Amino acid sequence: MSAPVILEGSGLTMRFGGLVAMAEVDFTLRKGEILGIIGPNGAGKSTLLNIITGIYVPSSGEVRLSGERLNGQPAHRIVGKGIARTFQSSRLFGDLSVLDNVIIGRHTHMKTGIFDVILRRSKAEAELAEAAAIAEGLLKAVSRGLYEQRHRPAAELPQADRRRLEIARALASEPKVLLLDEPSSGMDDADTDALMDDIRALCAERPELAMMIIEHDMRLVASLPHRVLVLDYGQKLAEGSYEEVRLIPRVQEAYLGRKAAQNAQA
Ligand code: ADP
Ligand code: MG
Repeated sequence: MSAPVILEGSGLTMRFGGLVAMAEVDFTLRKGEILGIIGPNGAGKSTLLNIITGIYVPSSGEVRLSGERLNGQPAHRIVGKGIARTFQSSRLFGDLSVLDNVIIGRHTHMKTGIFDVILRRSKAEAELAEAAAIAEGLLKAVSRGLYEQRHRPAAELPQADRRRLEIARALASEPKVLLLDEPSSGMDDADTDALMDDIRALCAERPELAMMIIEHDMRLVASLPHRVLVLDYGQKLAEGSYEEVRLIPRVQEAYLGRKAAQNAQA
């Protein structure tokens, strides 16, 4: 893939007291690329997303979006620059409707403040109507079934649709880079397949959007990402196509345990 690099990290290191959660990790992400991040529990996958989005400030190293240094900037500003994410555990507003959850994702693009609501009501209402129209479009783009449930409270959605809603909400900030932390967790195979189809359709519709997907479901990792980065104990163990990295003995060890890896080689 030769599209320009949009996001890159170099020498990323994250220490928590004595624990080194990430050590000297480099990565690049190109426009339109899907990069899979895999590795056992505690490998540092979520830490990497937290560094990119400004939730953690790395102990050393740099993250650059289109060449601009991001680390050191507050998380809300990083979202405004075009990086959106979903979380490993759901962070929806359960009492609010599906549609309202997506509208909230647009806050970085809305100009209306509380004084506008009181003093310039028609302006505020126009902006809200526009946000609602955009949110409806996003729900349709992510999943027709989700759009049809747009007036239900988010808490009533089945798990798979909650994940889709989180993706729609992340897209509402009009990101250039979308980061998904274990989007298929808690889903069965059928739901995972349907989610993969939705993500594929989304990518086809937005060819410039770059994605990083943390994933443990190997069927998804095998079929969706263009490239895979393997983390283990905070270090980059391997990087390449799934076909390349899955054959590396240390990757098999990290995943299957040493015994199983030896059997696989035999
Ligand atoms: P993964 O997402 O790959 O399962 P994480 O990135 O969540 O792993 O965690 C990597 C390591 O960093 C783990 O040992 C975890 O306990 C540690 N860690 C992550 N966040 C913090 C934190 N805020 N404080 C202390 N340790 C943390
Ligand atoms: Mg994690």
